Amino acid sequence: MAIATINPATGVTEREFDAHTDAEIDARIGQAHDAYRAMKATSFADRAGWMRAAANLLEAELDSAAAMLTTEMGKTIGQSRAEVLKCAKGMRFYADHAEEFLTGRSLDDPSAVNASAAHTRYDPIGVVLAVMPWNYPLWQVIRFAAPALMAGNAGLLKHASNVPQAALYLDTLFERGGFPTGAFRSLLIPASKVEGVLRDRRVVAATLTGSEPAGRSVASIAGSEVKHVVLELGGSDPFIVMPSADIEKAVATAVSARTANNGQACINAKRFIVHTDIHDDFLERFTAAMSALRVGDPMDESTDVGPLATSSGREDLVGLVDDALGKGAVATTGGAVPDGAGWYYPPTVLSGITEDMRLYAEEAFGPVASVFRVDSAEDALRIANDTTFGLSSAVWTQDEHEEELFVRGLDAGAVFINGMSISYPELPFGGIKDSGVGRELSVEGIREFVNLKSVWKA
Ligand code: NDP
Repeated sequence: MAIATINPATGVTEREFDAHTDAEIDARIGQAHDAYRAMKATSFADRAGWMRAAANLLEAELDSAAAMLTTEMGKTIGQSRAEVLKCAKGMRFYADHAEEFLTGRSLDDPSAVNASAAHTRYDPIGVVLAVMPWNYPLWQVIRFAAPALMAGNAGLLKHASNVPQAALYLDTLFERGGFPTGAFRSLLIPASKVEGVLRDRRVVAATLTGSEPAGRSVASIAGSEVKHVVLELGGSDPFIVMPSADIEKAVATAVSARTANNGQACINAKRFIVHTDIHDDFLERFTAAMSALRVGDPMDESTDVGPLATSSGREDLVGLVDDALGKGAVATTGGAVPDGAGWYYPPTVLSGITEDMRLYAEEAFGPVASVFRVDSAEDALRIANDTTFGLSSAVWTQDEHEEELFVRGLDAGAVFINGMSISYPELPFGGIKDSGVGRELSVEGIREFVNLKSVWKA
C-alpha cells in the first residue's frame, strides 16, 4: 500500500510520500532511544509543561489540523474539529494526573518482609512502538502518546499508510511543545517493516490499534521477543433496547452510535438488539432517522456522513451487505453503492440477520446497522454475547433488574446504560476476547508501559 494522502471524497491522490530507508529507520529509533535516556533526568512537572504546550499548539492549529483529518480519511469537518479538541483535553488530563497515577505505595508493616522500609514505584521502560489506524488519526495516537510521554517513555509511531500527513504532524508536535528531540518519532514505513522495528533491542514494547490479523501478528512477534503488548482491535458492539427504554432518545442515540466517524469506529454500535414489544416501532423510527441523514462532502458543515476512508474498506462493507441480502436480510434503507466519485456508502439498516450471514459474526466498518428481534432480556444477552468480540456495549432500559442482568452478563470491556459508547480520558478503555488485551486511558492506561519496581531496605 502506497504511503499517500488519497482524498476519500474524490478518490484523487493528493500527495505521495517516500518510505523511510533502513538507515533512516535506524536513526529514528536511535533518536527515540536517546530521548528516553535524556528524559530520565526530567520531572513530571517538566513533562507536564511540555505536554500542555503541545496541547496549546494543537488547539491553536485546530482548523488546519481538522482539515487535514477530513482530507486524509473523510470524517466530517465538525467531527474532525471535535477530535482535535479531544486530543488537547486528553493531553492536559495526563499532564494534570500522571504524577498522581504513578505514585507508588509504602508498606504499612515493612517488618513483614524483614525490612526497615519497603515501597513501590513506577519507572518508565523505554521506547514503545505504536502501530496505529487511520480512523481517528490523532486521537488514537494521543491516547497512547500522552500517558507514555508523561510516564517518561519515548514513542515511535507507525501510522496507517493512508494518513501520512497526520503522522508527520505528530512527528513534530511534542518536540515543538518542548520534549527532547526524538521523544516522539514517526516512521513512514509499510506494515512489512514493523517486525524489524519491534525486534530491535532498543524497542521494549508495542501497542496496536487496528484489525485482528494485524494485532495477532504484532502480538506474536512481541511474544517471541518477550515484549509487553497492548492491543485494541475491532468490535461488533451490541446496542440493546428494552420495552421500558425512552424510545425517542434510544433511536436518536442509535443513529449517532452507528454513524459517528462515518461508521468507522471500533466502538460504534453495530448490532441493534431490540425487544419484540417495541421492535417494529424502533425499526420504523430508526430507518426514518438513518435515511434522513445527509451524506456528502465531509468539508460541508451540514454533512452528517462522509465517505468511507478507503476503496478497499468500501469493498469489504459491500461484500458483507451483499452476502446478507443474498441470504434473505431486508434493507429498510440503503444497501447499495451510489454512483459518482468518492467512496460513499449510504446509512443502511438491515433486519432479518441470521447466523449463516457473515454480518452475524463479522464487524461492519461503515454505516451499516444490523437489527435483531428478541423475546426477552435473556435472549438479548445471549445474542449480544454470541460474538468473538468484546469491546463495549450499550443497554437501554429503565428496569433495575434488567440493568443488573446486563451489567453483570455482558462480555465486554464496558457497558453504557441509556447512552452510547464513547472513550473518555477518565475511564479505562479496551476489550476482552478478540477485541484485544490491556487497557488504554485513565490510571490503568498509563500503568501499561511502566516498570512497577519494588524497593526493599534492610
Ligand atoms: P489494519 O489493521 O490493517 O491497519 C491498522 C494499522 O496496522 C496500520 O498502521 C497498518 O499499516 C498496520 N498493519 C496492518 N497489518 C499489519 C501487520 N501484519 N503487522 C504490523 N502492522 C500492520 O486495518 P485496516 O485499515 O486494513 O482496516 C481493516 C479492518 O480493521 C477494518 O475494517 C476494521 O474492522 C479494523 N479496524 C479497527 C480499528 C479500530 O479502531 N479498532 C481501526 C481500523 C481498522 P498499513 O496502513 O501500512 O497497512
